Amino acid sequence: MTIQWFPGHMAKARRQVTEKLKLVDIIFELVDARLPISSANPMMHEIIHQKRRVVILNKSDMADPSITEKWLEYYEKQGIRAVAINSKDGKGLHKLTKAAQAEMSEKFERNLKRGMRPRAIRAMILGIPNVGKSTLINRLVKKNITQTGNRPGVTKAQQWIKVGKELELLDTPGILWPKFEDSEVGYRLALTGAIKDDILNLIDVSDYGYDYAAKYYPAFLMSYLGTDEPMTPKEMLERLALNRQLTDGEHIDYSRAAEHFVRDFRALKLGRITLDRPEELEMAEEADEEV
Ligand code: GDP
Repeated sequence: MTIQWFPGHMAKARRQVTEKLKLVDIIFELVDARLPISSANPMMHEIIHQKRRVVILNKSDMADPSITEKWLEYYEKQGIRAVAINSKDGKGLHKLTKAAQAEMSEKFERNLKRGMRPRAIRAMILGIPNVGKSTLINRLVKKNITQTGNRPGVTKAQQWIKVGKELELLDTPGILWPKFEDSEVGYRLALTGAIKDDILNLIDVSDYGYDYAAKYYPAFLMSYLGTDEPMTPKEMLERLALNRQLTDGEHIDYSRAAEHFVRDFRALKLGRITLDRPEELEMAEEADEEV
């Protein structure tokens, strides 16, 4: 379910996250590998404050692998620990514990020197709706049957999922809202199905997806459309509509054609397309420095 966010909900979400933060050493910030920036919460830093974090690029099986590599390099340059995983089939999950240990090592060594006993790292997952938080938690639960508690009749307080000996994960994730004041971010979220279809005009979303694919993934478009003939987004919808008989007699049904295109985009019928690119951020940073 995608939540429509209102100021009241945002405040409540923030409060709930702040409460959970007290229980953990580290945050696993889950983002969609296809849009690591657009699927992040804009107030993340402010909300988690000084808490350590690891960025988890989830759904990496759906993203363009070469850009995922670039994102990992980008985070490394920024001094942010990041890993790419696929929660659906469990690929890369071992990286979670390793990354958390690396992130916490200094603090735990300091604690050790002060005579504090080593203990498991406590972590929680944080992210916007649909980014794969429950899928990841379920994966980890299935792999690690040594879950604590959960007897019927016992009030369900916070529970911890033990991931090996080294990590304990809070079984309920923190949910934050996506930012979509910016239409470009909105289109990108919509193209991955992260926000409800009634928030934005689907023809605009489809046009944006088509233009983006034409710019960065022309070969994908060619095999999807069966032609490399240049065309406008409108002409593309017309072609799709004619091929799939999306007409009401003589008129093209643009809305339905756009629905088909967006559905195909989400189902990776065009290919694995990444919508946020690290060079966009680097360009913005350079522009800031010039000012
Ligand atoms: P949540 O709202 O953050 O808890 O998101 P869910 O766990 O409900 O996941 C949203 C959708 O993304 C579901 O259809 C999942 O099957 C799918 N999903 C989650 N993680 C992955 C992944 O790594 N790869 C793929 N392909 N799909 C995923």
